[in-house]
Amino acid sequence: MKPILKDKYGRVIDYLRISITDHCNLRCLYCVTDEIAWVPHDEILRFEEITKIVDIFAKEGIRKIRITGGEPLMRKGLPDFISQLSRIEGLDDLSVTTNGVLLKSQAEALKKAGLKRINVSLDTLKPERYKIITGRDFFSQVWEGIEMAKAVGLSPVKINVVAMKEYNADEILDLVKLTLEEPYVIRFIEYMPMNESWDDHNFLSVDDIKAVIESVHTLVPIDGTHNNGPARVFQIPGARGEIGLISPLSNHFCGTCNRLRLTADGHLRPCLFSDTEIDIKTPLRSGANDAELRDVLYKTLALKPKRHHMQSVSAPKCHRGMWSIGG
Ligand code: SAM
Repeated sequence: MKPILKDKYGRVIDYLRISITDHCNLRCLYCVTDEIAWVPHDEILRFEEITKIVDIFAKEGIRKIRITGGEPLMRKGLPDFISQLSRIEGLDDLSVTTNGVLLKSQAEALKKAGLKRINVSLDTLKPERYKIITGRDFFSQVWEGIEMAKAVGLSPVKINVVAMKEYNADEILDLVKLTLEEPYVIRFIEYMPMNESWDDHNFLSVDDIKAVIESVHTLVPIDGTHNNGPARVFQIPGARGEIGLISPLSNHFCGTCNRLRLTADGHLRPCLFSDTEIDIKTPLRSGANDAELRDVLYKTLALKPKRHHMQSVSAPKCHRGMWSIGG
């Protein structure tokens, strides 16, 4: 029988999100923080160190891995790393979240390495706005990356959209329209208070988003087909793609949270929104054996809070920016 990992609230914890770099080729206004200080290269976990951690954790009950960053496609050797991870026994799901800037040239290698699906972050279909939101002029590269991911058979290709009143609320229907013709899963994610740019007035709840979509289309709820996690998933009748709504703030899903996070500099975090974390790199590099590394997993698990309290502008911000945790 497969092992099951549970926290003290009875939640099954089977998902590890791994940031493999804190470097990013974008400067998204909701993500970067004032004090970006890249971690020195030798403080970043090496791929073989991460593989060792995943191998140990998979034996305890971790089944799903997501590779994130920073921008994971900036790290050299990603396809080989994916191929190593895909051989670890006990894992059921392996995915990558990318901003898509470097995807066109890497999609095929990632697919060949064993990656099945991919999430691409893209908040707008307008190149000029893309520049404002991300600080860089890479819209066409990202779009070509998305098309390439689809062409090489990564499936599904999910497009993550951070919804913000000022920047893309008027594009909700255009984004949704993509699902009519293409098999993309468009996922609207509530804007979270992670840095100084947070502005309550820009917040758009998934209920607001759903109302905009339903002013024009019928939304049929569908069951979790593609590892949907906390997303509520819908389809417009006859559409090829799907629509996901993710509400970390307006309707937090902590009660079913199944995640831990591993930062690029080797800290395990029990919750995205809390500064609590445990160093696993130091024991790993000091020759800790598997049982000792397993202990770090259980210590982190014991610290998993019942829920987060990141509701509004008055809530404390995390010490690390999203770029440093991985989302
Ligand atoms: N660079 C990759 C990317 O862009 O997908 C992976 C890292 S990025 C931190 C992961 C996800 O976090 C992206 O989808 C990004 O849009 C999201 N994100 C970052 N800051 C956010 C915020 N304040 N609120 C909601 N989502 C955020």
